[in-house]
Amino acid sequence: MPSLRELLKKVDIVDVISSYIELRQVGNNYVARCPFHQDDTPSFYVSPSRGIFKCFGCGVGGDAIKFVSMYENVDYKEALLKLAQKYKIPLKLKSSKEDQRVYVALQRVADFYHEELKLSKRAFEYLKERRISSWAVNRFFLGYGGETSKLVKILRGEGLLEVYEKTSNLNRLDEESYRDLFKNRLVIPIRDLGGRFIAFGGRSLGDEHPKYVNSPESEVFKKRYNLFGLYEAKEYLRESAEAIIVEGYFDVISMHQEDFRNCVAPLGTSLTLEQGELLSKLVKSAVLLYDGDSAGRRAVKSSVPNLLRVGLEVKVVYLPEGEDPDSFIKKDVRALRELLSKAKPLHEELLNKVRKGEKEAFEELLYYCSFISDGIKRYELLKELSSLTNMPLSLLEDRLPKVELKTKKEKEELSYHEAVFLAGVFRFGFESLQTESLRLSPQALELLQAIKDGNYHLLPDYVKNLKLFNFERAFEESLRALSLSEELPPIDFESLREASVKTPRKLRIKR
Ligand SMILES: [Zn+2]
Repeated sequence: MPSLRELLKKVDIVDVISSYIELRQVGNNYVARCPFHQDDTPSFYVSPSRGIFKCFGCGVGGDAIKFVSMYENVDYKEALLKLAQKYKIPLKLKSSKEDQRVYVALQRVADFYHEELKLSKRAFEYLKERRISSWAVNRFFLGYGGETSKLVKILRGEGLLEVYEKTSNLNRLDEESYRDLFKNRLVIPIRDLGGRFIAFGGRSLGDEHPKYVNSPESEVFKKRYNLFGLYEAKEYLRESAEAIIVEGYFDVISMHQEDFRNCVAPLGTSLTLEQGELLSKLVKSAVLLYDGDSAGRRAVKSSVPNLLRVGLEVKVVYLPEGEDPDSFIKKDVRALRELLSKAKPLHEELLNKVRKGEKEAFEELLYYCSFISDGIKRYELLKELSSLTNMPLSLLEDRLPKVELKTKKEKEELSYHEAVFLAGVFRFGFESLQTESLRLSPQALELLQAIKDGNYHLLPDYVKNLKLFNFERAFEESLRALSLSEELPPIDFESLREASVKTPRKLRIKR
């Protein structure tokens, strides 16, 4: 089996990077606009002779594997496997005891942040402003990203620096300097079900962008298998047999603070099947508590199937438009309590609407019906629907939307650029794109249609939750890569960028 060094020798870094972004040759090197920061002058250099890339704008750099891991937001090992697969290089990875030491390092870093919070006046003011109590600070072990050199010194002193770097939370810039992803931010630690720290979220204290940063995926942190607040909510979930699902970190924190302690959130993703499975081991039902705007409704439509599939009963509570649980709870906690206590199971609510003759509720109920894992329950529901509408049961059964999960094999048929393209369409929801000018596989075309029809359940979770450092840039590059026309690009990227900033839900593509 080849070693890492041999693998890197076989892989042409220019070839790897140019499959993601456009490179231009300048002398012996290649340059590009950096995909990792807002870069208008090309500051991003690739040196084929040294096999490395380096950005002189934001300081990132490394080998081909590091690039793939950063660009695709996967951990180093996963990036390595991807490359090995792409270049058909056999590879055997040893699983090490290092995982255990990563947890030790993460705990140490969480301690550091938590201590630093006590020293930061600014962070303290921020918490006060958001009305986060000291109870919540301790319960969630909130922290503050203090002096990076101090953190580095602590980790180095305990021999944990190198192992911690693998989480990509802390990146080495050169011999002596490091960049901490959470510097000057309020830090929200994420724990697994057993209480081990596995990742961090960071909120800027002012108007700095981005508002939130999160730990990249790593060997110990896989978003789709974890929920924020799960550890803190565990005993309350078991006790109440019900989970309240909200969208953001501060929603969870505020809810716990107001005594709704069975509250959790997906980690900046739409709820995955794996997260549903995790919940189904603790509770019998789940209440989705989302903003009543169109984004909230879309999130509900794509989350509910994954809860029904694992046999959970689902309730949906929409907040008044423009409100999230964090803001609403601070305005009127009694109203929230009432909304939650009055919530009925989704199918009952929809049946009631059908009784009142609402056509949309009928379609919606059919849609959700097809995900109910318990055949008897599904049958009874259809029978009731049949008697309400005077439609024969067999007809209703025929009209159930198809719900087969995509198989692993089909998943692999999507190319990287197709996945980014579909994720972009799902995210931005643009209807005006001329898809005939794109080179798409039948599989990708089918999924594109599914998004247009609102059948988000057909979209693989990994596409729905694709996280890229600079999504717009990646989306552009993928459109460019999928475009049929070489000399005359059919897409005006400038207006695309403008349009996506101004009207993120409707991208206008000029032709
Ligand atoms: Zn850069």
